[in-house]
Amino acid sequence: MENQRIFLSSPHMGGTEEKYVKEAFDTNWIAPLGNNVNEFENQVKEFTGTKAACALSSGTGGIHIALDLLGVGQADFVFCSSLTFIASANPILYLGAEPVFIDSDLDSWNMSPVALKKAFEDYTSKGQLPKAVVIVNLYGQSAKMDELMAICDEYGVAVVEDAAESLGSRYKGKMSGTFGKFGIYSFNGNKIITTSGGGMIVSDDEEMIQKALKKATQSRDQAVHYQHSEVGYNYRLSNISAGIGRGQMEVLAQRVEQKRAIFDRYVEALDDIAGIGFMPEMKDTFHNRWLSTLTVDSEKFGVTAAEIVDHLAKFNIEARPVWKPMHMQPLFADCDYYSEDRDNSGYLFETGVCLPSDTKMTEQEQRYVTKKIEELCKTV
Ligand SMILES: *Cc1c(COP(=O)(O)O)cnc(C)c1O
Repeated sequence: MENQRIFLSSPHMGGTEEKYVKEAFDTNWIAPLGNNVNEFENQVKEFTGTKAACALSSGTGGIHIALDLLGVGQADFVFCSSLTFIASANPILYLGAEPVFIDSDLDSWNMSPVALKKAFEDYTSKGQLPKAVVIVNLYGQSAKMDELMAICDEYGVAVVEDAAESLGSRYKGKMSGTFGKFGIYSFNGNKIITTSGGGMIVSDDEEMIQKALKKATQSRDQAVHYQHSEVGYNYRLSNISAGIGRGQMEVLAQRVEQKRAIFDRYVEALDDIAGIGFMPEMKDTFHNRWLSTLTVDSEKFGVTAAEIVDHLAKFNIEARPVWKPMHMQPLFADCDYYSEDRDNSGYLFETGVCLPSDTKMTEQEQRYVTKKIEELCKTV
């Protein structure tokens, strides 16, 4: 008999979400504002220790607004992590600017300070500076924020931290997403918590978050009549979705623990197999392990990462390759790319597998996954 599908990461309700959604119905706040939106923002502020937050309809919208507020426009350059989901880079194009992609290091899988420095030196030698730097915290792992922030500060360029995947992660005790001028979280259906679709922009600069709120609501000026002095968007989160978010925030810490336990079980089952390695957790960081991710040396193990993904699919198990880096995307074929010595993000794309990391997955189901991987190993 076929097993139930084992998902990569699916929505996992805590139980109180419907109560808050019902509250929205009972009070008829079926709108992109209301008590759930305010409370959800307060929860995220409290949890992350940031001063201000604005709930949005997507994380992508948050990156768009952040870059817009930093003045990114036509013919500007924006440095951006290459190893990421395209949502980190698309908003650069919305604003008519040009992305320049920066490779990862192998300690963090995130933006390499060495490659970032190279890009800055090269651009300044041409008399150019980027308008902003988008730093991604992949799969819940924090980037090397001290080193990266020091370089960006040296050149006086603002950072947007794409923490879409890293809510609940910490770097040297401080919450992921609270290092740059702006941080962005996503509540898409596959993220560690979800509002069925949504995002949040956070900052310690309260005035800037006021501006973000204005941008997200069509940049309406303070006037009874409809008056607008600058371009705006329709990006505010609905009060219904925010109700789901309120319930989800109550179980976020629990989800992080569950994700970390899933990762630990994979390590225990597979780490001794020749050719298998796992995404590191850097010293002094706390990884939310949104997706458990391994790397495979196909010579030693016997099959490639792509073959593992295909094999698992045959058993109704959802695994995925690591994100295809932006510098390898047809859309960005003409963009600049800076790496260390070798192409680390290309290497991680070739060798990486995201394993089922669903918090509703039972331990028995997870053993089924690891058994199917073990079966592929040539030495077993
Ligand atoms: C999910 C994700 C986003 C975008 O979030 P949405 O809410 O889906 O728009 C941005 N960056 C990364 C790295 C993501 O994984």
